[in-house]
Amino acid sequence: MSKKNDDFLKSIISHAKEYGFVFPSSEIYDGLGAVYDYGQLGVELKNNLKTYWWKAMVQMNENIVGIDSAIFMHPKTWKASGHVDGFNDPMIDNKDSKKRYRADQLLEERIERYEKDGKAEKAEQLQKDLDEAILADDLIKLKELIEEHNIACPISGTRNWTDVRQFNLMFSTQMGATSEGAEKVYLRPESAQGIFLNFLNVQKTSRLKIPFGIAQIGKAFRNEVIARQFVMRMREFEQMELQFFVQPGTELDWYEKWKQIRLDWHMALGAGKEKYRFEDHVKPAHYANAAVDIEFEYPFGFREVEGIHSRTDFDLKQHMEYSGKKLQYFDTATNQRYIPYVVETSIGLDRLFLSVLSHALTYEEIENGGKKDTRVVLKIHPVIAPIKAAILPLTRKDGLPDKAREILNKLKVNYNTQYEERDSIGRRYRRQDAIGTPFCITVDHQTLEDDTITVRHRDSMEQERISIDSLEDLLEKHTKWTNLLKEIKTDSL
Ligand code: ATP
Repeated sequence: MSKKNDDFLKSIISHAKEYGFVFPSSEIYDGLGAVYDYGQLGVELKNNLKTYWWKAMVQMNENIVGIDSAIFMHPKTWKASGHVDGFNDPMIDNKDSKKRYRADQLLEERIERYEKDGKAEKAEQLQKDLDEAILADDLIKLKELIEEHNIACPISGTRNWTDVRQFNLMFSTQMGATSEGAEKVYLRPESAQGIFLNFLNVQKTSRLKIPFGIAQIGKAFRNEVIARQFVMRMREFEQMELQFFVQPGTELDWYEKWKQIRLDWHMALGAGKEKYRFEDHVKPAHYANAAVDIEFEYPFGFREVEGIHSRTDFDLKQHMEYSGKKLQYFDTATNQRYIPYVVETSIGLDRLFLSVLSHALTYEEIENGGKKDTRVVLKIHPVIAPIKAAILPLTRKDGLPDKAREILNKLKVNYNTQYEERDSIGRRYRRQDAIGTPFCITVDHQTLEDDTITVRHRDSMEQERISIDSLEDLLEKHTKWTNLLKEIKTDSL
């Protein structure tokens, strides 16, 4: 099946559900829009992806440390950061269907349609007009473009549109016991502000010198109006962010360095170079003097998986002004006091998760007992595979389960393993293929005689007979973190 279409996305969604990777939230109540739960295998894969990021960013860099700040923050935070006034999307409603859309997305889709239909010139012109309108915050122009290009509501089919309006994406709630005394607080729309507010705490207690970074993994919340494409655009999602503090004037060099470091990090996962590209922002956010997205080719096309921003001194300066506290750094090398500039790398964990599933899910035509068959394999890099090895007694008799459990008990301390004794061995192999387990270890009668087992390799389906004693070495060789991290260069930081 082609990995580039809507059907393939549907296959990913149903595979993720069938095997316990991702479930719709609150499914027994018919779900909650754009909110998802990670199941028993999804959480393992997600945790491995977090570990991969944390090791590459924090553990391997002497001058980067991690924090875990609270989701609730003082409401002034969001005033200072510009989110209360400016964290908006341009929305338009269709008066007949009462459905709400993002005006820029309706136009982006029209551009894609033009491209698909071979109308390259029209596509190019509309892209130019859209970029200009966004750059100028021109909501009237956005509506004109929607009308000019005859865009109709997919539900009602009519072109009966409201004006384009700005819609704030932050969720708010009340903190405090009584409604009169309660304070309006927000669920953070990005984890970055928790880092800025702790900039001095961390700098003073860690005694790090510029350049240095603070990293964080945590939940973020956005009231996305158009939530689509599975875990791509969720209302509750997880970010992995780094704020790297540098001397003013050096930020664009660091920005270029971080672009490369982050791209290399993605590519080590093995999806292939051609699956990634940089896309510069036409209009960097209000806080940035340069911004680029790393895009991955999902089944529905290239989309942002990570954003890299040169955030200047905007955030620290704003927080200094709103809090009245000095958020400066004294540079002993130059004898100067200044507000550091910041380069941010921000990756959506859920979008990364989807990128891994999109490249890993494979349908292979194979011969099975003289007949053509399809093998479903999740070709996940062994280091991040949820389960590293499945221990399978050939039968449930003759003491094979006991022997298998003996092996399992040895391995499970260091490796995430599964024990499975039901069904034929062939079906068990297939099940493990479908969840991406790199090794199936079969215990048979010969095992009882000579302490050897059969190891089946997921991708090649080749089998080899090795001694139980050498099993840990084999697993270590293929699943050690060095395999992923060896390409990551950190000595330039
Ligand atoms: P988009 O343009 O796609 O809405 P963004 O530019 O608003 O994304 P950023 O604010 O740069 O995104 O957030 C950093 C990262 O967080 C993104 O690269 C993306 O991976 C992730 N992210 C942002 N919004 C969502 C969401 N609604 N669901 C899942 N991940 C998200």
